[in-house]
Amino acid sequence: MELPRKVAVGSGVIYELSEICADLKLQPKSLIVTGQNTLEIVGREISDLLEKDGFKPDILVGRASRLEEVDRVEAKAREIDAGFIVGVGGGRSIDIAKLASLRVDIPFLSVPTAASHDGICSSQASLTVNGETTSVPAQSPLAIVADTRIISRAPARLLSAGCGDIISNYTALLDWQLAHRLRNEEYSEYAAALSGMTARMIVELAPTIRPGLEESAKTVVKALISSGVAMSIAGSSRPASGSEHKFAHALNRIAPGKALHGELCGLGTIVMMYLHGGDWEMIRDALLFVGAPTRADEMGLSSDIVIEALINAQKIRPERYTILDAGLNKKAAEKAAEATGII
Ligand SMILES: [Zn+2]
Repeated sequence: MELPRKVAVGSGVIYELSEICADLKLQPKSLIVTGQNTLEIVGREISDLLEKDGFKPDILVGRASRLEEVDRVEAKAREIDAGFIVGVGGGRSIDIAKLASLRVDIPFLSVPTAASHDGICSSQASLTVNGETTSVPAQSPLAIVADTRIISRAPARLLSAGCGDIISNYTALLDWQLAHRLRNEEYSEYAAALSGMTARMIVELAPTIRPGLEESAKTVVKALISSGVAMSIAGSSRPASGSEHKFAHALNRIAPGKALHGELCGLGTIVMMYLHGGDWEMIRDALLFVGAPTRADEMGLSSDIVIEALINAQKIRPERYTILDAGLNKKAAEKAAEATGII
């Protein structure tokens, strides 16, 4: 199991960053990877804080989550002989830092500025390779510093997307159990229990989750970290990624860039819960509470696109067995999408 050694979640924890670096006995030279927006919001502040405490940071502004950007960060880290990389941002910078640090064989620290997906804690990097979004094995962060003061100021849509990514654990677990029974796939009770509890907590707290509130930012970011830990325990993304993620990836392939990862996963969870014969209304209602989309047209996705994605989702990552492997035909896909109101 590869787990983070330090996790700090709370208001103003960014000011503990240097202390955390010192506790982890990190080399003084560091590279901060951030985006153009996050550079102004927090990137420079982090650089100043590290500078003040002798961690000699260089800043590199990432442009896109592409492999070429990982090459650029890797080259920079080698050039300055960085002892560690800090990924500061909503997702892209963290993904780039995650993979570049693995290549240079140095630790990486995750400083999320939004709670929009569980990549802030996982060992997988989501990158665009040859025009397609692909999950690339990287490394888990050595530390996560999630400042709720910063995260609570992120756009509302990012927080509700984060809830969608957590709620998707419901169907991911049902798919995993199915694969365990039908394909004898290895199953971890501990990972499943943690992942399930995390998703249940978000459903139960959904009526209280509001953008702009530090308490809500804390609830969601802690849940995202717990999902990441569940994946670390399982040694795969199984506890947090099943048929609903395949559907989300299929949608993104057919109509790229229409919605956030967590929004697509949330939509997928509604319909996959229906296919599993579970309580899909509970999923839909929780998403409504947190302000996440529950209909494809809210994201500019037509009914045809949704049906095409439902039928083709099984082909995404075919080795991962899910409910979709039972063979969903067009008529049944239309029925499921209409019955759940996603189209
Ligand atoms: Zn996800």
